[in-house]
Amino acid sequence: MNCPYCRREGTRMETHAHLWDGHPDQVRTFRDEAKGTLKFALDCPFCDEGMERVANPRGREEDFLTEFRREIALVAFDLLLYHFQASHAEQVGLPPIPDEPATEGGLP
Ligand SMILES: [Zn+2]
Ligand SMILES: [Zn+2]
Repeated sequence: MNCPYCRREGTRMETHAHLWDGHPDQVRTFRDEAKGTLKFALDCPFCDEGMERVANPRGREEDFLTEFRREIALVAFDLLLYHFQASHAEQVGLPPIPDEPATEGGLP
């Protein structure tokens, strides 16, 4: 498959690692002041369907976003890869898989 941002070639697993190495800034982390939760968001480079998930429902842990930055980004990129397989398989050279993502949900 190809990296959606720079077209670098690799396996799905290599691309997953490369997304964190090369494009960590694509994942935004922020605090939802209204709900008091910590969230992450990642835009799809091919369509308007961005994804947003709660990273930690207990938003009071100040260092959470810094401490788990890598874990959060890897979860976000995994969700993005599943979205590619479901919606943009041809654009990134992935075989389409209709299955539901197995990693739904937040972080432990
Ligand atoms: Zn890339
Ligand atoms: Zn998309």
